[in-house]
Amino acid sequence: MIQLSKRVQGVQPSATLGMAAKAKALAAAGHRVISFATGEPDFDTPLHIKEAAKKALDRGMTKYVQVGGIPELIAAVQTKLKRDNHLDYTKEEIIITCGAKDAIFTTLLVLLNEGDEVIIPAPYWVSFPEQVKIAGGAPKIVTTDATRKFRLTPKQLEASITPKSRVVILNSPCNPTGSAYPRDELAALVDIAVNHNLVIISDEIYEKLIYGNFTHTSVATLSDKARASTITVNGVSKTYAMTGWRMGFAAGPKEVIDKMKTVQGQQISSITSFIQPACAEAFLGPQDDVKKMVKEFATRRDLMHEQLTAIPKITAHLPEGAFFHFPNVQYYLGKRSPNGPVTTDADLAEYLLEQAHVAVVGGSASGAPGYIRLSYATSREDIEEGIKKIKDALEKLT
Ligand SMILES: *Cc1c(COP(=O)(O)O)cnc(C)c1O
Repeated sequence: MIQLSKRVQGVQPSATLGMAAKAKALAAAGHRVISFATGEPDFDTPLHIKEAAKKALDRGMTKYVQVGGIPELIAAVQTKLKRDNHLDYTKEEIIITCGAKDAIFTTLLVLLNEGDEVIIPAPYWVSFPEQVKIAGGAPKIVTTDATRKFRLTPKQLEASITPKSRVVILNSPCNPTGSAYPRDELAALVDIAVNHNLVIISDEIYEKLIYGNFTHTSVATLSDKARASTITVNGVSKTYAMTGWRMGFAAGPKEVIDKMKTVQGQQISSITSFIQPACAEAFLGPQDDVKKMVKEFATRRDLMHEQLTAIPKITAHLPEGAFFHFPNVQYYLGKRSPNGPVTTDADLAEYLLEQAHVAVVGGSASGAPGYIRLSYATSREDIEEGIKKIKDALEKLT
């Protein structure tokens, strides 16, 4: 047996990718499966973006390019940050990464020493704690309150800080809850983080997917101190339906970005060359497709909310953003299915997949037992049919 490093022994595979894979396998076996497990838009990438990648290929952009991103894309990110987020970053303060996921991971790698604590509000995106562990840090999970739509309070943040605290990760709008922070609440949290010399990783990947009259606030705009302490993370995956392209970015103080480029240069050299002009096109080209997608997501959010909360004993808040609902399913845990006991949210997810052929993700994977996550990045027909199937399957539990 080959020994694996201590650092990776406790690292868990992504539960969301796992559930999506199970749903796909069931579908491949010929079943009609409705998946609310996916974490990606169901729309295709807008045509003008795909064309830009084809053109880059045709003009021979198939060789190594600059570490940290081509100048054209960095300039596009700069323009995007100014236009959408009111943030002024120099070219030296931006790095292009292999998805937002890689931006967060590389940030953690350059910041953490062994045992440094990273504060992560729960429910959290499944990758945050695992990335912290791989980077040698210690996740410090802070459980938030469902009655506050799972938003961390200043008191909770303050109480979680120890001499080992180094970083806090904020993710607004949030995967898995769909909750988002209003500006004043964000400002109160950031004040505390800054006063304790914490670095803030602000994962703003869902900034465009917001509904009703909610407005997104970028953490780094809150004050000069906030800007100096924040690594802003974003990308093209969710806004432009480009999850498979693998492009994201981090923007922050030059000393951090410089070291991230060094790490990237030694690890992957750069992200794929010919997708970069297309990603620039995504940021700078027409934004009509984004508007259309957001409008459709808003309709689906309302539809799913209405149908979910009509199921007896299920409670759920109306999310402000992303494309997830996060209902409380506690009432149905501890019951029995024909196949055996349904004790945990993971058991319930398993049962719903087997019984109803509907895929959802258990909340425990996000540090929130008793909840499930449903993505509405799927058609309205699927939402209506899938929720009805869930309702029927829940009624069969005794
Ligand atoms: C999807 C997602 C990301 C990252 O996506 P990339 O495809 O790596 O850009 C980052 N954070 C959260 C919370 C996400 O849901």
